[in-house]
Amino acid sequence: MTPEEQTELIKQLRTELGNIEYQVSNEYLEQFLIARSWNVAAAKEQLLSTIEWRKANDINNHPVATAENKLPVLYAVRGYESIPDSNLESAPGISESVIRINKYMGGACLHKVDREGCPIYIERLGYHKAKDIAKNATVEEIQGYHIGCNEFLHRVVMKDCSKVAGRHINRETVIFDCTNMGWGQLHMPALQFIRAIADCDQKYYPETLNKFFLVNAPGAFVYVWKIVKAWLDPGTIAKIQIIGADFKEPLLKQIAPENLPTFLGGECTCSHMDGGCVPSQVLKNAKPLEINAHNQNVPTAYNSDIMTSAKSSEVTRGPTFY
Ligand SMILES: [Zn+2]
Repeated sequence: MTPEEQTELIKQLRTELGNIEYQVSNEYLEQFLIARSWNVAAAKEQLLSTIEWRKANDINNHPVATAENKLPVLYAVRGYESIPDSNLESAPGISESVIRINKYMGGACLHKVDREGCPIYIERLGYHKAKDIAKNATVEEIQGYHIGCNEFLHRVVMKDCSKVAGRHINRETVIFDCTNMGWGQLHMPALQFIRAIADCDQKYYPETLNKFFLVNAPGAFVYVWKIVKAWLDPGTIAKIQIIGADFKEPLLKQIAPENLPTFLGGECTCSHMDGGCVPSQVLKNAKPLEINAHNQNVPTAYNSDIMTSAKSSEVTRGPTFY
């Protein structure tokens, strides 16, 4: 398909949508068209159901951390202009479920950008205590946390990256580091969490993935992959590269060495931050997270007072992303 034909289909989708509640960018419409193989009717249906979902769950009013509102971040961030480098802390405002989930996580960080200007999300999947996460968290809590992270990524970090790159950035590059992964990770209840997250992303955040690297994947991973693959769209599967121990070269092709942590073959150490590039509660390379009385037991990412105040305050709500 030529770029002209694509522009024409974007126009057609816009016309068929008629008056919808928000002003949506061509890039946003394109995400739905690509996800539905440029079928306008299918893209329209998915977009309308996304708008409905966002409305029913009040997603547009979800609070996001910005430099201005100084809300605590939901995971570690490194290297963006509009938000200072920070770690997840047990600050007032963060819900108890987020702290609890992170106690069993091998580490996650939104870490700088790749060579295309897309933000990089790194998760040390192999160090997750998968069974403990499954035992100590509900799907609802995992989803609430994931939505909070997604909204921050798209409304704050992608905006920042777009400004720096001088073009519309709406995709992230993901690295799942499988170092240390073993049979313990082959835990069906924990895999169901991955399914819930993948479902949510494919339905309501389509085509937001740039590249996906699964590195240091052990032999056991082949079995996990067989299960997970069945839950993914062909478009998502096409973007996933599963690499064993020889991950350095493919990662450096996508990411400049100064933006890639040393444990992934780059030169970055983030020595100015507690926990370095990717703080991990399981690896104990960062200050331990403690649950305090101010961390409310709610399935949302932030305490209910912050969730409520975002409905009436533009500052807490932060920017939108269409
Ligand atoms: Zn770093």
